[in-house]
Amino acid sequence: MSDKTSGLSRRSFIGRSLASIAGLGLGLAASKGLRAQTAGAPAAGPAPGAAAKPAIKEYRPLGRTGWKVSDVSFGNAGMQDPSLLEYAMERGINYVDTARQYYDMEVVVGKIFPAKRDKLFITTKLMPELFTASTTADEITAAIDESLGRLNTDYIDCVLIHSVGEDPKLSDPKKIENPNVVEAFEKAKRAGKIRGWGASSHGPRMVEDFDWLIDNTPIDMIMPGMNFMTKGLEPLLARARKKGVAVVAMKSLSAARKIDYSPFARDDGTVRQAVIKWMLAHGDLDTVCLTMRTIEQIDEYVAASGAPELTPEERKALGGYGMLLDRDYCRPGCSSCLAACPHAVPIAEILRYRLYFHSYGEEKRAISLYRRLPAGRSAARCVSCDAPCDGNCPHGLAIRSKLVEAHRELTV
Ligand code: SF4
Ligand code: SF4
Repeated sequence: MSDKTSGLSRRSFIGRSLASIAGLGLGLAASKGLRAQTAGAPAAGPAPGAAAKPAIKEYRPLGRTGWKVSDVSFGNAGMQDPSLLEYAMERGINYVDTARQYYDMEVVVGKIFPAKRDKLFITTKLMPELFTASTTADEITAAIDESLGRLNTDYIDCVLIHSVGEDPKLSDPKKIENPNVVEAFEKAKRAGKIRGWGASSHGPRMVEDFDWLIDNTPIDMIMPGMNFMTKGLEPLLARARKKGVAVVAMKSLSAARKIDYSPFARDDGTVRQAVIKWMLAHGDLDTVCLTMRTIEQIDEYVAASGAPELTPEERKALGGYGMLLDRDYCRPGCSSCLAACPHAVPIAEILRYRLYFHSYGEEKRAISLYRRLPAGRSAARCVSCDAPCDGNCPHGLAIRSKLVEAHRELTV
C-alpha cells in the first residue's frame, strides 16, 4: 500500500507502535456508548436451562443485512465435528464464518442443515485464486453453486472474495475491478442464491482494496484482519458503517493462542478475553470472528461478550502483552517494507503463514500456502541476501531472520 493513499503511513505506524499502551485507552473512550443492544435478533439464543454456562450477551446489527448477530462469532478452518458449532449456538452464537479453502468445513457446517439453517448467518469465501482480471461471471456463479451444495443449503447469507489486498506482486490488484465480479454476485442475489457479498483481507493492500470496493460497488460486507495491535483502520471502518457495509473482524487474537503471556495473566480472566473485550469496545465493527476449536475456547470467548469496558488491570495486561508481541508481529494492512526487497518476496504473506504455523496450530495450512508461492518468490531468497529490507519495519521486526526461520519451518 502506498503511504499516500493508505492512511497507514510509516510515520503513523511508528506513532502507533510507540502508543501501543496509551492507544488502548483512546479506542475505548472513543467508542463508549456505541454498542447496539439485542432486540428482535433472529438469534439462536442460549438454550433453556443453560444459564450456568457463559452466554452471548449482545447482538449487533450486521450492516444493512437486517440481521443482528452475536458480538462474538464462530470460525474454525478445518472443523471436523459439527457438534462444536452446535455447542456454540447453544451459547447464543448465530454467526458462522467458513471458506471453500478451509478443507471440508463447509461440508461439516452443512451437516446441521436444514434443521438449523434459519438459526445461523453463514458467510463463506470463494477460493482466492478464482479471482483474476479475466475471471468470467459464469466461473464465479459455478463456485457459488459449489458452495451451496457443500453447505447443504439453498441460500448463503454472504459470500466473500477471499483475500483481497494481497501484495500486488503476488496477485493482480486489478482483479477486484473485473466487472464480472459485481455482475455475478448481483445476479446470484437476484436469484436468491446469496443475500449479500463482500471481501476479506489481511494483506498489505487491505485498506486500498476495501476503500475501492466500498466506493465503486454495492458490497455488503468487509472482513478485515484487525486487533489491538493494528490501529489506524478507523477511517475505513467509519466509511463502511456510514454506507451500511457490515464489518466482521478477524485475526483479532493475533498471536494470542500459543504465546506465553503468563507474565500478564489475570486472576479474573484471560488475556485473550481482554483482547476480545478491547475489540468489542470498538464502535465500528459488528462482530468479532474467532477460531474456536474446543468447548473450553467457546466458553472462554463467549464469556467476553457484552462486556467491553476494560478494567485498568486489563489495560495494563494488554499493554504488556502488546510489548511482548511488538517486535514479532507483522501487522495486517502494513506494506512499509515491501518496496525494499529487490526480489519481490511477499514478506507480509510469509510472516502471516509463519503466524499460522506458530500460533494458530495450522501447520498444514501454513505449509500448503507457502508451497503455492510463485517460483523464485519464497524466502529461500533470504538465506544468502544482505537484507536491504531490515530496518524498514517501523515496528522493528528483524525481517530477514524471521523469513529465514519461516522458510526452514514451512519447507517440507
Ligand atoms: S532478506 Fe533479502 S530477499 Fe529476503 S525479503 Fe529481505 S530483501 Fe528480500
Ligand atoms: S514486517 Fe513490518 S514493515 Fe513489513 S509488512 Fe510486516 S509490520 Fe509492516
